[in-house]
Amino acid sequence: MKNVLINKIVEIVVTENQLRSFWKKLGNDLEFETLSNEQLMKLAMREIQEASLTELDSHLIDRGWRTRDEIEGKMIAEDNSNPRFHVELIDTDQEGTPSKILIDRMLELQCNECGFNFFIQDTDMDANTLNCPKDGGKLTITGNNAKKINKN
Ligand SMILES: [Zn+2]
Repeated sequence: MKNVLINKIVEIVVTENQLRSFWKKLGNDLEFETLSNEQLMKLAMREIQEASLTELDSHLIDRGWRTRDEIEGKMIAEDNSNPRFHVELIDTDQEGTPSKILIDRMLELQCNECGFNFFIQDTDMDANTLNCPKDGGKLTITGNNAKKINKN
């Protein structure tokens, strides 16, 4: 079978207005204003997970709905708990620099000798051609992972 895998970096924005209406739709008694930063990020993740493909369009930057100025501001909280996502809460009323974090796909290798574990960016690399940087031992590919790296 010829399955096509498209790896694409997308930036998904859930605006405060979208969060408010999603919160309302859930029918919670609590006031939106009482939600903590952590709860806001969880709420956004839930909204994205439950969104249909067309709804998702209204969250993607550069697809006509969301614009870059909606993510310009100060990052006031972040959630790194899921290695596939990096979630940030941005206060657009405060001065700050745009996000410098992106998710990249990397190959995870482990040394058979000492257990040293590291990532390389070239996912096509043949592990047999590399040796452990610590003791020169043989390596095994332990994962094809998304990992957070800094753009700078
Ligand atoms: Zn080693």
